[in-house]
Amino acid sequence: MKIIMLGAPGAGKGTQAKRIAEKYNIPHISTGDIFRANIKNGTELGKKAKTYMDQGLLVPDELVVDLVVDRVAQDDAKNGYVLDGFPRTIPQAEALDAALEKINDKVDYAIDVDVPDSNIIDRMSGRRACVGCGGTYHIVYNPTKAEDVCDACGGQLILRDDDKPETVENRLKVYHDQTQPLIDYYTKKSILKSVDGTKDMNEVFENIVKILEV
Ligand code: ADP
Ligand code: ADP
Ligand code: ZN
Repeated sequence: MKIIMLGAPGAGKGTQAKRIAEKYNIPHISTGDIFRANIKNGTELGKKAKTYMDQGLLVPDELVVDLVVDRVAQDDAKNGYVLDGFPRTIPQAEALDAALEKINDKVDYAIDVDVPDSNIIDRMSGRRACVGCGGTYHIVYNPTKAEDVCDACGGQLILRDDDKPETVENRLKVYHDQTQPLIDYYTKKSILKSVDGTKDMNEVFENIVKILEV
């Protein structure tokens, strides 16, 4: 099962991708997590990516595409994967399709987690991310047992710099300009499925499972 998660920043892609990955025992591949790990480790890629991420801009396609194409070719991704945060532009989607076509493969589902802009600031300002495992929580909708401590790994929780309202506004604009066109792209390929991302997390997940198990 090869799945792409689409949706605005903060729509709940990561939250749902994690659950899908656990249920179907496939890797969760998040380009945001990969960049953040590179930043933490001080790599060249991390240094380059950070200048874009801090401004709420997309990292250029040429820094993302090869990384993902290599990742999905790894052994653990043979039976499927859930891509979270990639593709984010039409050229990224075309590059992924071209790479998969070469090996006679294709994406099975593009799941759009639909949340209006009016909910996004609230989602992002309350999001807390674990520096250890990348897990995300929400101070109201998905709080941890102990304040600022990750339930899963005991890591410290932070408010991501790019989740501050000024940057979120840029990210939303970038989403509408560059990523939203993918909805049309995958509709034309007849693999787009939409879920109402304003429902509570469990209900969103149930609706995704229904789509995957028809
Ligand atoms: P969110 O979970 O809020 O959607 P991500 O963690 O997926 O955010 O991404 C954080 C940032 O990393 C993005 O704002 C962007 O700068 C960069 N990024 C992640 N994935 C991509 C991608 N596929 N193409 C370009 N930039 C990306
Ligand atoms: P994305 O990966 O699309 O940027 P996340 O999965 O990180 O989004 O979710 C963004 C924030 O919203 C997090 O704080 C998360 O806990 C919270 N969240 C996710 N799904 C829901 C939901 N259905 N209802 C309320 N809050 C949610
Ligand atoms: Zn953690």
